[in-house]
Amino acid sequence: MAGIDPALFRKVMGAFATGVTIITSEADGEVHGMTANAFMSGSLEPPLCIVSIARKARMHDFLLHAGHFGVSMLGAEQADMSNHFAGRPMADLQVRFHHAGRTPLVEGAIAAIAADTSATHDCGDHTLFIGRIHHMACAEGAPLVVHHGKYARVAHMESRGAAPTLEFW
Ligand code: FAD
Repeated sequence: MAGIDPALFRKVMGAFATGVTIITSEADGEVHGMTANAFMSGSLEPPLCIVSIARKARMHDFLLHAGHFGVSMLGAEQADMSNHFAGRPMADLQVRFHHAGRTPLVEGAIAAIAADTSATHDCGDHTLFIGRIHHMACAEGAPLVVHHGKYARVAHMESRGAAPTLEFW
């Protein structure tokens, strides 16, 4: 990598705290899911969102073929779900999906989006998938957060008048 140490790259990018999502899609009768935090809002008009998927991930070619994807934003109690969909399968984990049109979404998420892929852009060893949003839903709940590779939750401390802090585990 020209001039940038990979360890420094990971350390700097890991300083950017994010939520955690499960990207889902369905093609030829198969549902596939994958944990991703490289997700962002793209545009309000038209409504677009963006997710960055590694070329080496099984999800990459699956999404190119399917042409649509779901984004399920995980709650603070769903770290097991994140680990499961990041390739550390948990045999006793109950994973249920519901659908928005043809797009599967993970049950129990705090917010969800379903989108049709409207464009893809090369991004080195990743591809950016831009989705035209056709469904959004939001439930109550604190988000699962990841920071420097560790899960955290936002600890609201309104009762003591302090700003929210991150609690790690
Ligand atoms: P696999 O590794 O084969 O599958 C993923 C897992 O999901 C497997 O355990 C599988 O059992 C399970 N699974 C899939 N479909 C189903 C189903 N229908 N029902 C039940 N279980 C199912 N990678 C990126 O490219 N972009 C990111 O933004 C990104 N962010 C990440 C953030 C975090 C916090 C973590 C932990 C990982 C992140 N990754 C990201 C890495 C990515 O999640 C893993 O590399 C993942 O294993 C790639 O999945 P895959 O498509 O290759 O499929």
